[in-house]
Amino acid sequence: MSLYQQQTLQQRTLGIIGGMSWESTQSYYRLINQGVKEKLGGLHSADLLIHSVDFAQINELQEQGEWEALGVIMTSSGTRLQAAGAQGLLLATNTMHKVVDKLQAATGLPIIHIAEVTAQAINTQGLKTVALLGTQFTMTEDFYKQRLVNAGLKVLIPDTVAQQEVHRIIKQELCLGQFQDSSRQYYVEVIKQLAAQGAEGVILGCTEIGLLISQDDSPIPVFDTAAIHAAAAVDFLLKEG
Ligand code: GLU
Repeated sequence: MSLYQQQTLQQRTLGIIGGMSWESTQSYYRLINQGVKEKLGGLHSADLLIHSVDFAQINELQEQGEWEALGVIMTSSGTRLQAAGAQGLLLATNTMHKVVDKLQAATGLPIIHIAEVTAQAINTQGLKTVALLGTQFTMTEDFYKQRLVNAGLKVLIPDTVAQQEVHRIIKQELCLGQFQDSSRQYYVEVIKQLAAQGAEGVILGCTEIGLLISQDDSPIPVFDTAAIHAAAAVDFLLKEG
């Protein structure tokens, strides 16, 4: 058997829609490759295709509420990855899962849903009530929370003022690669307040928050969606059949 045949037997090809922001796409790339290396050893690395979008355009369309256009951009990215050989897709952001159904319909490919794999990770730990931090779209709208509720979880979100500040820090700092102690402190205070309201764990429901907050900063268990999503990507790559 040729080396190429051995490789294709060992891994499927995963298409990643990234760049939202590229700060966290870097984390995915590192974590997925580390995961494959841990499982296969040696010089093994992940069989990936990445299409990285221009986040300035994505952000502007989000602010304008142009979700139809955003759906078109995501499906165009997904079909390009499919044409290049992707056997499954991963949308490397929480927020853009708002249009995941369009992506699914356009490609018919398996999509690793970030909220579903996060809910599974929480259920594995037996927690029932969790706090959710992310963009305002992710925290307040049903497209994300409903997946958690469907998995049997109760979801707590910050009050309106804190939602705005959590969102601002994501867009004006984390997505620009700025990680400030004052913002870390702010997030920790918000987590403490939600823990006092009954949250047993906190979902870092924006793929850049894990670059600011670690388990050491939080009084309750953290569920870093980028790390959980990346681990699910490794399972997908190495799944037989
Ligand atoms: N990466 C972030 C997320 O996971 C936010 C960026 C965006 O607004 O798309 O939601």
